[in-house]
Amino acid sequence: MATATFRFHGVLESFLARGHRGRAFDCACARAATLKNATEALGVPHTEVGRLLVNGGPATLPRSVRDGDAIEVFPFEPGAAATADAPLFLADAHLGGLARMLRMLGFDTLFDNAIQDLAILEIARRERRIVLTRDRELLKCREVMRGCFVHALKTEAQISEVAARYALGRQMQPFTLCLHCNLRLQEVGAGAAQEQVPGRILARYARFVRCPGCERIYWEGSHWEHMRKLLSATLDVEIDA
Ligand SMILES: [Zn+2]
Repeated sequence: MATATFRFHGVLESFLARGHRGRAFDCACARAATLKNATEALGVPHTEVGRLLVNGGPATLPRSVRDGDAIEVFPFEPGAAATADAPLFLADAHLGGLARMLRMLGFDTLFDNAIQDLAILEIARRERRIVLTRDRELLKCREVMRGCFVHALKTEAQISEVAARYALGRQMQPFTLCLHCNLRLQEVGAGAAQEQVPGRILARYARFVRCPGCERIYWEGSHWEHMRKLLSATLDVEIDA
């Protein structure tokens, strides 16, 4: 056994037992435990660890815990998890509202309200998707290469949280994906939209797009205006109207 001192910072404290929050504490770790094993045994999934310091120097999750180590664990700074290409997501069965919002911003997001954990692990690995979930045990699975625990309960706070972590403001392409099917939308003229769209909408908006799967027509109406304001305020970025 190795006894180490741990200190978790920021939002990571919410995963800890109450007595471990807001302070450093000693913990006896299992023999040959890695930093991944030790932090997960204390409640923090490996996907949530942004940065690690051991005895003041940088370390990574596969490092072994040694007797007397002073371990500090930090969450991701805003934007620190950003990827070069637009990230792909897989939302678990409880995050349908968040999945629709991500699609509204143009981020390819799989969602199936009947999906099982094994399927989530398999699809995320195969398609290199970020698993979005409020199930911390799922994120502890070593098969999850990239995952994100969603702390907020309300959809609007959830999208702000995910957008901040992955700096989505830089990569979004609003109104390019169907909110229901996740398929790429195609431009249609007002003439083609005429049958499905009320006259007052046709008179007000110039641009219409259609999903090739469900054939729904979309336009940049009040829904989008609301989203634009929300994200502009949260991410402190200007989003074109
Ligand atoms: Zn569709």
